[in-house]
Amino acid sequence: MKNIYGVTIKELEDYFTAKGEGKFKATQVFEWLYKKRITSFSNMRNVSKKTMQDLANDFVIEPLEIITKKSDVDVVKYLFHLSDDNKIEAVLMKHDYGNSLCISTQVGCNMGCHFCESGRLKKVRNLEVSEMVRQILAVEADLNIRISHLVLMGIGEPFDNYDNVISFIDIINTPKGLDLGSRHITISTCGIVPKIETFMKYDKQVNLAISLHAPNNEIRSSIMEINKAYPLEKLIPTIKKYVEVTKRRVTFEYIMLKGVNDSVQDANELSDLLRGINCYVNLIPYNETSHIEYKKSSQEQIMKFFDTLKKRGINVTIRREFGSKVNAACGQLRSNYEEA
Ligand code: SAH
Repeated sequence: MKNIYGVTIKELEDYFTAKGEGKFKATQVFEWLYKKRITSFSNMRNVSKKTMQDLANDFVIEPLEIITKKSDVDVVKYLFHLSDDNKIEAVLMKHDYGNSLCISTQVGCNMGCHFCESGRLKKVRNLEVSEMVRQILAVEADLNIRISHLVLMGIGEPFDNYDNVISFIDIINTPKGLDLGSRHITISTCGIVPKIETFMKYDKQVNLAISLHAPNNEIRSSIMEINKAYPLEKLIPTIKKYVEVTKRRVTFEYIMLKGVNDSVQDANELSDLLRGINCYVNLIPYNETSHIEYKKSSQEQIMKFFDTLKKRGINVTIRREFGSKVNAACGQLRSNYEEA
């Protein structure tokens, strides 16, 4: 049976219309779910007995179960249990501008980035829409907070689960739902070119981040399998087109891996590659994992890289490090939990 948290407002309106009932009922149900946060159909007090019964017959309403959580300064990492016994992660980060949640989009991942823990478990399946929505609801309920910013940077490749991700954004973005502003939502992709093409035509102003991690094909192919399918000569023109079509700035994520992609020469090459693109580069200190041999660049090297990009006129920031004590990199909590 379908989980009610995976239903868009339009789908719920169609559901009531098909039953010969008013569309307004969909709005009522959304209010109970996302404003009043009830967790049982019987608590929807202004809907008729019949509607309550119909909903209970046709949908399940069930929160995500938290298996464990780990906290550090300004960060809480969650491990969730799914109804088929799979496990996924989400990470809550408290910033001065609000609460940002990083959610998973798949169980496992097939993209095969060599430095990433998530990919050690190959994709088992896509997350359902409701499983993405319920990550937000579970964290908000657990900490009694509201999430202001959302990033799709947990386990999985969002563009390998495109349709569910779009329905998910619909539910959380609608003012009748969680009302999370589209400009506060960021999708991160390793660079699936055809999906970036599709995403250009999407009408919401959701941010796009590209996991670039290298200034040339040689380095990129040595750390990211996706670059063999969509090398830079395909990826970069597509991003230029994206920026032109959407008039939006794009973010490039760049993990700093010691001795792999962090030299001043790499920084110079990167600035040439990105010249003229309305973008900014987010340098990510690598979160080391016990399973993978990559090391994080020294603070000094990161600063040199940063300064080189700056001097060459590239907008650049260094990502604040959260929760290395709580295994906050993608896939680390699940992987450590399975081994324990
Ligand atoms: N599949 C998507 C989103 C999930 S990964 C993507 O590739 O963008 C989110 C980001 O975390 C990516 O930029 C990824 O490269 C990065 N990442 C993965 N492992 C990491 C680690 N150990 N330390 C720091 N960043 C990591």
